[in-house]
Amino acid sequence: MPGGGPTPVTKGQRSLALKPEPKADALAAVVPRPPKSRARRTWSWLLAAAAAAVVIGAGAMQLVQQRRTAMCADCVSQLRSIGCAINGYSEDYDGEFPPSWRETYPDYINNAKLFKCPATESDGWRDLAAGTVTADSSGYAYVPGLNACMPGDFVVAHDRSLANHHGYGRCVVCVDAHVEWWPASREADFQRLLVLQKEAVDRWRASGKLHEGLERFVGPELRRLMDLGVPCRKGEASVRFDFLPEPH
Ligand SMILES: [Zn+2]
Repeated sequence: MPGGGPTPVTKGQRSLALKPEPKADALAAVVPRPPKSRARRTWSWLLAAAAAAVVIGAGAMQLVQQRRTAMCADCVSQLRSIGCAINGYSEDYDGEFPPSWRETYPDYINNAKLFKCPATESDGWRDLAAGTVTADSSGYAYVPGLNACMPGDFVVAHDRSLANHHGYGRCVVCVDAHVEWWPASREADFQRLLVLQKEAVDRWRASGKLHEGLERFVGPELRRLMDLGVPCRKGEASVRFDFLPEPH
């Protein structure tokens, strides 16, 4: 073996010695990512998308609720106007309320659109404006046969259907023109109230002693039911509907 000088480098060894060290990012480009990392990134995207969907959904629901609340408030306002108009009619007719909607328009309610619950799409009120009263002329049901001397909590008119307000409940106007909200959870009580109220009025009229008033025909059950409606005072209407849960 020759002594002394450096050990000769073969061609293969030289190419290895001159080859630069691969950089880290170059390695990253060459070496495939482990499947676990890719899955984690996919999950991150899915979670972000789900979170965004939840936020968008909650915002949309809030907008819907605000719109429904505004509709309820408008309905309350309209029924209050209708109640005042009916009382105005009674001043001209010896205390009696009108037999039907027909007698109120246009002398006491000059805007036929007031008969349309603002939460509904029906345009039947146009028939009323044209002088034709049909079952669809109003979004409100009228309770005939009452007068201004009856108990202030007797129901004069109300949303014709629970569907008016998407099943949440009904707006109701009473003899003294105050408006109540009857949530859907009290619908059975409301229907019972209408039945007992009619029975009391019928018995009073049949008694022939109209001058005595009908207080004595208002039994304890009817009296209890009359207290169940939620009064909608001016300026408070929007508060009443904010916390309503989704109907089933
Ligand atoms: Zn309504």
